[in-house]
Amino acid sequence: MCICINCHWVDRCQVYHSVEQQHGVAHLNATPDIKPKNPKIHISLIDLSDGGIGKEWDVRECESFQNDEGRWQRLRPGEALPT
Ligand code: SF4
Repeated sequence: MCICINCHWVDRCQVYHSVEQQHGVAHLNATPDIKPKNPKIHISLIDLSDGGIGKEWDVRECESFQNDEGRWQRLRPGEALPT
């Protein structure tokens, strides 16, 4: 699971914006203004239902992480958490 969903900066972060891009999901913010320090992105290969191979991007460590439990969910109430 990407740590960004519980990060205070998730809707202003340029790296999380790239993760959204990779996952093909809607952006929280079209113009993020925060560049995080040393994010470590974990990329996994996953089997897709159509038989293809997809990539999943998760930030696992980041020096700019600031814990704000449930930040993403508060910004998108009722929506499923990104995986
Ligand atoms: S953990 Fe780092 S990469 Fe993720 S939203 Fe926060 S600042 Fe951005």
